[in-house]
Amino acid sequence: MSIFGRESSRAEDRFEAWLKRMHQERVLAGEMEPTGPCPDETFLRGLARRSKSISLSDPRIDHAANCASCMNRILTMRQNIRSDRRKLAYGLAAACLVVIAGVAGWFRYEMQHHRQTMASVAPVSATVDLWNTGTYRGEQPGQLQSVSLPSAPVRLTIILPRFSSPGQYLIAVTRDQSGNGVITEGFASATASNGQERVSLELDLRSAKAGEYFLSTTHEQDQAAYYYPLQIKDRASK
Ligand SMILES: [Zn+2]
Repeated sequence: MSIFGRESSRAEDRFEAWLKRMHQERVLAGEMEPTGPCPDETFLRGLARRSKSISLSDPRIDHAANCASCMNRILTMRQNIRSDRRKLAYGLAAACLVVIAGVAGWFRYEMQHHRQTMASVAPVSATVDLWNTGTYRGEQPGQLQSVSLPSAPVRLTIILPRFSSPGQYLIAVTRDQSGNGVITEGFASATASNGQERVSLELDLRSAKAGEYFLSTTHEQDQAAYYYPLQIKDRASK
């Protein structure tokens, strides 16, 4: 708010500042006649801080506005207040930088951690070849060439035994040969390639501790499950 009221323009603000400066120069040159004694330091500090508790009708304001020594004190105090504010601003800026650096560091750590987690969750591709295993109904598949899978999410492709039918298969990893203790299971459609039927699906074997299991295949129509010995290994030792 200026002496010209609310609607002051920039030019008016500049004029007002000029008037203030002129007045200040005259006061500091000792050209004004202050009335009354100099007020105490506390009052001057209040003026320097533009304290709202000082009444504009206080005669000490009039004195300070016209006394060279009081005005000098107030100007020095103003300067100190401004430099304190600047220090505070620098301090705040520095604190902000520390916080930003901290957040950035935390974010980088989280991203790295996230990437590592993602890497450890990314499925491992594996192919199990059952092509040469016994496939006639009722015939137990003998000892296989060792089938082993890691204790991890696995993108599994199974080459089904010779003469396997096309269609949907239920693929499961179980504790025993009777289908008990299912670790995980999923449906997949067989697709023919090079005269072989293959099924592909993702199986999450993370919950399986290293050990002996069975991999089973069950055709949707004949419902007979075939079990193949399966070894699950710790991911690290795969
Ligand atoms: Zn004075």
